[in-house]
Amino acid sequence: MRIAKSVRALTPYTPGEQPKDRSVIKLNTNENPYPPSPLVEKVLASFDLDRLRRYPDPVFTELREKIAERDGTVPARVFVGNGSDEVLTLAARAFVDDDEAIGSFDPSYSLYKTLAAIRNVPFAPSPLAPDFTWAPPVTRAGDAPVALFLLTNPNAPTSVRYPREQVSAFAKSFLGVVLVDEAYADFADDTCMPLAAAADNANVVVMRTLSKSFSLAGLRLGYCVGPEDLIEALYKVKDSYNVDAIAQAVALAALADLPWMRRNAAKVQKTRDATADTLRARGWDVPPSQANFLFAKPAHRPAAEIFEKLRQRNIFVRYFPGPRTGDRLRISVGTDADMDTLLDVLAELDSPLA
Ligand code: PMP
Repeated sequence: MRIAKSVRALTPYTPGEQPKDRSVIKLNTNENPYPPSPLVEKVLASFDLDRLRRYPDPVFTELREKIAERDGTVPARVFVGNGSDEVLTLAARAFVDDDEAIGSFDPSYSLYKTLAAIRNVPFAPSPLAPDFTWAPPVTRAGDAPVALFLLTNPNAPTSVRYPREQVSAFAKSFLGVVLVDEAYADFADDTCMPLAAAADNANVVVMRTLSKSFSLAGLRLGYCVGPEDLIEALYKVKDSYNVDAIAQAVALAALADLPWMRRNAAKVQKTRDATADTLRARGWDVPPSQANFLFAKPAHRPAAEIFEKLRQRNIFVRYFPGPRTGDRLRISVGTDADMDTLLDVLAELDSPLA
């Protein structure tokens, strides 16, 4: 056969739909409803084409300096990827042997399981508590020890954040690498970044993306901070030029305008909390969100039915079938106007059963 057995058996990750029709209300992929910083527009408008003739800096020197400055660390502890999804792929390559496993909480970012399948190693899911708070992580899959635990914080799709102390205590007891995926941390009240920067830390890597809080999902830029030996291992296994010249320049501009990002994140938090309050008042179950989305269980009708009917009305949210997720909708936080429209339509769709 021309295709590897592991790939033939693979169930690929399904990303959220990107409809061509720009007029839909798109609340399905946790994008930011506000535009990126004006500095981004400026850097793109004046981008020197000669920089495209040449290869980009393979180790993104300037960008690492900027990230180190933002996160209170040094450039030697920073790695950058073509989106944080690439960082995850490289972590699975660099930190896991063929006879080891990859673990994460369940439910969590569904790409993790696919990454283990691509890497052809077992995946060890750790069931979360019923309210999606912390439960003891599973650290073996049969004979295979978990070498890489992918810990989304705040978690997706649940929106719940685990306390930093809990993550720290787990990492201290764990022999493998804990990669804290902080894709949504700019919408939360706390971050685990200090764990990655701590001098006595040997196994915590904290990952960020510019896709959500910086409104740059189309750019593809993610990064991580961690102990130097782990960061070096990521450099060893990456493609030579994994972050293109435009992405490096735009990311630098975006990171130079943190107040812009923080203002947008604060607006999203405010809209998020108001939307959650309204839904709760209508009897929905909405866990306390620390992210830019809600993981909401309707009061009356099945989530799958509401998902389909919203879609027919050109409102896109995300639905994950399955025992822990199938009774909820994951709703990205849009503008106030988006959420008002959504709430109006939901009032109609989630009517009590006759
Ligand atoms: N981690 C989590 C938890 C996510 O939800 C996402 C977005 N789907 C990513 C990582 C990937 O983000 P990026 O756009 O940086 O690849």
